Amino acid sequence: MAMINQNEREILQLLTQEDDFCIVCHEAPDGDALGSLLALTGLLQQMGKQAVAVCMDTVPYVYQILPDVEKIQRPDVLAARHLITVDCADEERIACPAAWLSQADWVINIDHHGSNRGFGTYNWIDAGSAATGELIYLLGKQLHADFTPQIAQNLLAAISTDTGHFSQINTTARSFAIAAELVKEGAQVAQLCNDIYKRKRLSKTRLIGRGLNQMQVFCAGQAAMIVLSRQDFLDCGATESETEGIIDYARDIDTVRVAALLRDTEKGSVKVSLRSQGDIDVSQIAMKAGGGGHRGAAGFTLYLPLEKAVDYVKNALKETIACS
Ligand code: 5GP
Ligand code: MN
Repeated sequence: MAMINQNEREILQLLTQEDDFCIVCHEAPDGDALGSLLALTGLLQQMGKQAVAVCMDTVPYVYQILPDVEKIQRPDVLAARHLITVDCADEERIACPAAWLSQADWVINIDHHGSNRGFGTYNWIDAGSAATGELIYLLGKQLHADFTPQIAQNLLAAISTDTGHFSQINTTARSFAIAAELVKEGAQVAQLCNDIYKRKRLSKTRLIGRGLNQMQVFCAGQAAMIVLSRQDFLDCGATESETEGIIDYARDIDTVRVAALLRDTEKGSVKVSLRSQGDIDVSQIAMKAGGGGHRGAAGFTLYLPLEKAVDYVKNALKETIACS
């Protein structure tokens, strides 16, 4: 299923020969980040290696059901010698102390973001891959590691979430082929869909309602924006990670070409998520503001008061679709 290039060969060799790995995903982790993190940790452990999964940020409620999620460690005093980053587009967003990168003997960077510039000592970046989870699957196969049902479930969660459960433009025949293999290895599709897409806390349902009520649509229906303030989170009793998926309601409006969600964070900055149906490359908008992502899904952070951030994003969307 896979063609191996030089970078990948070096990475496979290191994983086979070395030991004592620390695997880390990006901050504000999503399903691909966490699924890939847990699966790679599990695969290395199946090979008899020492491997720990690290993430500084809290695991969002929906992903607290992932197998082995309780084994994720918060960074402690010891920096890692052998660091592997998964699904991390850039160094600034890795969920471990920044010093770990410079202190490590080497860093392996496994990712599928087109904007990834290869910050690792060794880089396996495949922008044609729908999810980092696909790359972890291929890597596990090359290493002849055992896929337990838990590892399979984590990889299916990774691929499912990054493809919008096999519905987005990035979904390929390979995504389905790997998913089929994972189901053979024991992954449970119905359980995954219930846990991740259907079941939710009341606070999240209330936050969805609040967001939809406050949605602004402009540029003759081509742009939609949802803004969530600290007060909205307080009123709904919701956490920041419960915004995941709310932007899809804006993107899915039939006239909308570009959608944005802004949330005022506890840190005082404003996190911006962007989505498009694919005809507009939202990663361009994000990169201009110091962020990144993919053609249809990208994001960035603005260190501005909420009202100023709203103006910035509104102008950026208007400029992108050339309306005034
Ligand atoms: P989300 O809107 O779901 O947070 O992120 C959508 C996509 O954009 C993800 O692939 C995510 O990794 C990327 N992304 C979001 N925020 C940032 C950011 O601040 N910097 C970079 N480089 N990528 C981001
Ligand atoms: Mn991803």
